[in-house]
Parts: sequence; structure tokens; C-alpha cells
Amino acid sequence: MAYEKVWANNEKLSKQELQKIERDWLEIFNDIKGYSQGGFDSIPKDQWDGFKWAGLYLQRPKEDGYFMMRVKVPSGIMSNEQLEALGGIARDYGRGVFDITTRQAIQFHWLTIEQIPDIFDRLDSVGLTSAFACGDVPRNVIGNPLAGIDPNETIDTTEIVKEVEAAFFKNPDFSNLPRKFKISVNANIYNAGNAEINDVAFIPAEKEIDGEVKQGFHLKVGGGLSSAPKLAKLLDLFVLPEQVVDVAKAVATIFRDHGYREKRHRARLKFLVEDWGPEKFLETLLLITGPMPTAGTDLTKGWNGSYFYGVHPQKQDGLSYVGVNVPVGRLDDKEVFEIARLAREYGNGEVRTVGTQNLIFPNVPTEKAEALLSESIFNRLKVNAPKFTAYSVSCTGIEYCNLALTETKERMKRVAAYLDENVDIDVPVRIHMVGCPNSCGQRQIADIGLQGVMMRDKDKKMIEAFEINVGGTLLDGGAFNEKLKGKIDGEVLPEVLREFLLYFKETKQPGETFREY
Ligand code: SF4
Repeated sequence: MAYEKVWANNEKLSKQELQKIERDWLEIFNDIKGYSQGGFDSIPKDQWDGFKWAGLYLQRPKEDGYFMMRVKVPSGIMSNEQLEALGGIARDYGRGVFDITTRQAIQFHWLTIEQIPDIFDRLDSVGLTSAFACGDVPRNVIGNPLAGIDPNETIDTTEIVKEVEAAFFKNPDFSNLPRKFKISVNANIYNAGNAEINDVAFIPAEKEIDGEVKQGFHLKVGGGLSSAPKLAKLLDLFVLPEQVVDVAKAVATIFRDHGYREKRHRARLKFLVEDWGPEKFLETLLLITGPMPTAGTDLTKGWNGSYFYGVHPQKQDGLSYVGVNVPVGRLDDKEVFEIARLAREYGNGEVRTVGTQNLIFPNVPTEKAEALLSESIFNRLKVNAPKFTAYSVSCTGIEYCNLALTETKERMKRVAAYLDENVDIDVPVRIHMVGCPNSCGQRQIADIGLQGVMMRDKDKKMIEAFEINVGGTLLDGGAFNEKLKGKIDGEVLPEVLREFLLYFKETKQPGETFREY
């Protein structure tokens, strides 16, 4: 049987799909310089969507003409000069705002079209890009933020991630997928790449081939969040490190050619995988890749929730990595420059972003770790932040996001600070807040997921409220949290959570975590 593609024949394509046939949005890069000279009003409204392919969204309200820009940081690994370039963009153009996302990327706000060419040049000069950070394309490749220094990794995935990123970079073969395509490449045995919520995830595995035990990966496909969340499914396949790029491209090819394009909300790979099942998906994959070995031994041992707080030994003798909290992932430009300076002075200049919106300083000589942590910035960015502040995550929310129903980032910070004051508990409780069902803050995998909604109060006035979902995890293949009945007025959310957590504290065993198995 030969591989066959079907999408070009589809007659019921969505509006966005019809537009994508008219115009490959990769071409938006050719127009940005002209728009920057003509100003925001020179951009036709029907071109706004295409800016996503350049990593640019119009922030709320769109008519004001300010852009949000997302910059990809594959596997979260940044050099010192990259960090300084990013700090410079935040300082010179982004009103000082520097956000770390749940996919290890960086987001700026308040950018104008006139500034974009210079920002592109600055990114380019340090090997960074915003291309394909948004849009219907392969997005930032996430992975193990400890790649190359991790005592708990089976393979150093640094180069593999770079190769995957390069394979898709502005690649016209993949510039028109049905929707976004999220890749995770991770060899940390504690699932640092959050495999199950990605479209395609490479997870650590080994297999005896020709009498030799080889390290490689198993493959999970079809995970994703939003309003119809699905956990990625395991395929019966073993992938050698040198095959990762081809396999990632093969999965993207299937998505491109068979993914649904009629309705945007059905256009993620997860729906195709659900309909086909893992067997048919694998069969089709092998038509593209050629024969590959069946699965070997899974090496994943647990899930660390993407938390790395504290000083920990690296696999290199005498070196440590230092994981610190960045409350809801937001820094200002001065902090970014200070972080860059400290990374240079105490480490090798590198800094790494984590999917929980936090930071890691790698390659710090162990004897210098204490001196590093005595620097004043760590009064705010703590290695041992109060529990609720340390384990809270938030999406962008109504401050900048057009899809948001509620405020999130500052609210999550306030809620966490209130809980830290009022609930003393012996285990972390991971709380994620999102401002709409799109779930950029990954609320489904949190112990407590708070999803913003609107509701009428007793005077029939529309107010911001939250649904509470409990019990999410990615341990043992994962389980999404479940919604409790009702909606809570945002104003009383802190008190309601306090009562709820005090009940949990009173009824739990010592050391018992929020979700036990
Ligand atoms: Fe915006 Fe919704 Fe994503 Fe939050 S979850 S950043 S509100 S789209």
C-alpha cells in the first residue's frame, strides 16, 4: 500500500483553510518591512491572521495595533547573548514585560509594526526566531530543560532538538498544517517534556537490536488540551536518536495530509488519532518512514511536573544547576539583564526556561551556588518560594489576550500570595489558572485547575468567575482534572480555595499529595 494524501480534495474547508490556499502565510515575512514603513493602518484586516506565522498576534484590543510576539526557545536553552538580546527587546520595545510561557518560549507585549524589522534583526543576530512560534505550523520544540546536564536523562537531547527545530524552520512543506503542531523531545526519566499533552512526543526508551542495547525513544501521538483535551497515545515503535527528525516529519506529514480542515475546533491531530486509533496511525506512519522496530522498554519512571527548584548536582562532576521560581513567569527587563549577568558570573552564561514558567541556572560550580543565591534578585526569584507561589502557573489572560474571559496572571499571583498567608500545608498543590477554554496555562494537568468564565451575579450583572477542576496529573500516562459543580465569583475565589485546601489539609494523611494512586 502506498501513502496517499487527501486534504487538497476536500470541498468543505473552513474559512481559514480557503485563505491558506490563496496565500501561504510564510509569505507574510515578505510584507512586514513594507507594513512597518506604512504603519499599522497599511495592514489590511484580512492579513492580520497571517502575522501568527511570524510569531505575532494583535493584543487586546486589536484595533490599537499593538502586537504580542512569541520567541521560540527550543528545549528552553538560552545562551547569555540570547538572553541579553531578549532583555533588550523587552526594554526598548516591550515596556519591560518579559513572560516565560508554558512551552518554554518568551513573550513580549506592546510591540508596534514599526519596531518589528529591528526586532527580527536582533533575534536573527543571536540565532533566535519568532517564525512559526504561532500559527498552523510546528511550534517551539519543547524538551528537557536539563538536556546535557541531567543525571536523570538517558540521552542528551540538545542536538536532536536543534535538528528538529531546523527541519521545520520556515519549511514550506509544513507551513500549512490544519492547525498548530506541538512537539516534545525529552529523555528525562521523569517526563520533563510533559509528553501526553503534545501532538507528538518522543519519550525515553531502550531496545536490544542486533545483540546491543540501544538508547532511543518511544512515540506518543495525539495529545492536546483546549476544550476537548486528549492524552497522547503510545505507538508500538522504537525510534533511534538519528531517526527522530524523520519520524517527527512523518507525523507532521500525516497531520498535514489527513488532519481535519473543515472545522477549526476539530483540526488538531488528537481528533485524527482518536478516530484512526494508534494501529492505523502507526501503519500510515510506516508507509512514510519505511519499516522500523517495534517498541522496546519504556524508561519513564515518573513525572516531576516540570519543577526543578533548588541546587542539584549535574552529571558533570563539581557542577550544579539551580532552579528558581519566577512568579507566574513574569520578569521585567532589569531582572532579565541581572539574570544574564549572574549566569555569566557564576555559571557558563546559559539560562534555561521551564514549562512551569520558571528558570534554571545551569553549570554553576557547586561551591559557588551559595554565593549565587545570596544575590539580591533571589529575594524575589526564590529557590524555596512559599508553596502556592512556587507551584502556580498562569496564562496571559485579559490583560493582553483577545480570547480571554477573565484576568489571570496578576490574579493568580494574588491568590497564591493569599493562600501562602492563610494555608500552611506540607505538600505542594499545583494550581494553574487560565482565562478561557484554550488552556494555554495547561489547567487540565494541575492539582487544581481554575478556568475563567463569565457569569451573572445576583443582580444579573456579568462578572468574572472561575470553574474549579481537581486532580490532574501526567503521572502514569496522565489523567485530566475533573470539574466541580458550579462557578465561583472571582472576588471570593481566594477564600473558597482557602476553605477547600484547609479541608484537604485536615482530612489528608501526613505527606499525602493532592492526587494519590
Ligand atoms: Fe488567552 Fe485563553 Fe490562552 Fe489564556 S488560555 S492566554 S485567555 S487563549
